[in-house]
Amino acid sequence: MMQTIDPSTGKKIKFYPQTKISQVDDILNNAQKSFHTWRLTPFKERAFLMKEAGRILRAKEKQYAELMAQEMGKPIFQGKGEIEKCAALCDFYADYAESFLCDRPIKTEAHKSFITYDPLGIILAVMPWNFPFWQVFRCAVPTLMAGNAVVLKHASNVCGSALAIESVFKEAGFPSALFSNVFVPSEKVKYLIEHPLIQAVSLTGSTGAGKSIAINAGGVLKKVVLELGGSDPYIILEDADLQNAVTKCVESRMINGGQSCISAKRFIVVASQFKKFEEKFVSRMQLQRMGNPLYEGVDLGPLARHDLRDGLHAQVKMSLKQGARLLLGGQVPKDKGAYYPPTVLTHVRAGMSAYKEELFGPVASLIKVRDEKQAIEVANDTVFGLGSAIFSGDLERAERLAHELQAGCCFINDFVKSDMRLPFGGIKGSGYGRELGEAGIKEFVNMKTVYIK
Ligand code: NAP
Repeated sequence: MMQTIDPSTGKKIKFYPQTKISQVDDILNNAQKSFHTWRLTPFKERAFLMKEAGRILRAKEKQYAELMAQEMGKPIFQGKGEIEKCAALCDFYADYAESFLCDRPIKTEAHKSFITYDPLGIILAVMPWNFPFWQVFRCAVPTLMAGNAVVLKHASNVCGSALAIESVFKEAGFPSALFSNVFVPSEKVKYLIEHPLIQAVSLTGSTGAGKSIAINAGGVLKKVVLELGGSDPYIILEDADLQNAVTKCVESRMINGGQSCISAKRFIVVASQFKKFEEKFVSRMQLQRMGNPLYEGVDLGPLARHDLRDGLHAQVKMSLKQGARLLLGGQVPKDKGAYYPPTVLTHVRAGMSAYKEELFGPVASLIKVRDEKQAIEVANDTVFGLGSAIFSGDLERAERLAHELQAGCCFINDFVKSDMRLPFGGIKGSGYGRELGEAGIKEFVNMKTVYIK
């Protein structure tokens, strides 16, 4: 049995029976049958169904936002935004999939030569709880539009969201089992990866899960896309517009209760700006309203699970023991929910938990550096490489420094966002492969060369 728990009260919501291995086999066989017709279905028809999925999402926005608030504590207004973003993604790939995947002629000495993009078959999507709808749609929409089938293994604490997503594709009229959910614990993922009908795997999750999935997929030579954790550095230089920097930094740190892979996590500030930044940052963090995620006006709900909240608090306590100083928060509220307050640590230095580990919650690490050279060194001194940002009034300087940062993206004078038009992904311990944009739809296709003499 899988069980969902409301993190704002600790109360059980619902039990879900696990999918038996024999049922998994049936689901995969059905998905394979649907794949054979779907791969030959014209883009126009695929696009029609995908737009329908977007329409259903918009019609049920409130219901799905409430479901996420209940299962993992996301404030209701953020949940509504997440559903709208999923719907917009359906429209985007419905409009552009065909042009992204049309045959590409290549001039050679042959009569005709070109690249064509064939679907692979059934793709396994192993997904996290932090954006229960967006992460799944981000993977599934381009993968389906490319002509594949998708089997979802969602995080165990968001079973209701998994079923809701499956029902969106069903109601939209996609072929039966083309998108299917399975309720299996993480130990059973190896069985799925090794199943002969699974062609490739996409994981969004922690570095530990990434290593395990990469090892299992490597054993059977199957392709993997890994979207893993991050500890995004935000560099604030002496010529930055401080008001803008503080606003963007706090917004990025606090989105989704700080439980985002691309949240700002380490704030690397040059010495001349440090004191002012620290004061403004703390004042702004204090404005965050913590409370029941179902109430409008709440910025910060509970964290998604009690064990995750306790783990975050242990990282804060360890960092303080290692010499960091607490400017705000840092206390577990006396509440049944998995709440954790906005927290600011300063004087964070190399070797501390808050410097080298991912803090997946509303905890900011402020790091003082001498100059831009040291800022880049500190920014790159991490096992991760997902997002990064630079705040500076000198755009040429910032652009030059963007090339020095070891990350999948660098945003200048703004916070890092996933944008469906742009490729998204990381390097180093943050994984490999890309989602979104043209790059995302080309991950699970066979780039086939055709040469006609
Ligand atoms: P997680 O514990 O790794 O879980 C993610 C998914 O992987 C869940 O479905 C989980 O199933 C499964 N899983 C866990 N361990 C596994 C294993 N050893 N083998 C196979 N499957 C396994 O991560 P999370 O706590 O849900 O999510 C937070 C992490 O995801 C953070 O590190 C965050 O930065 C990262 N993330 C990255 C991105 C990105 O785009 N780069 C986006 C969002 C989140 P169970 O729930 O059943 O354990």
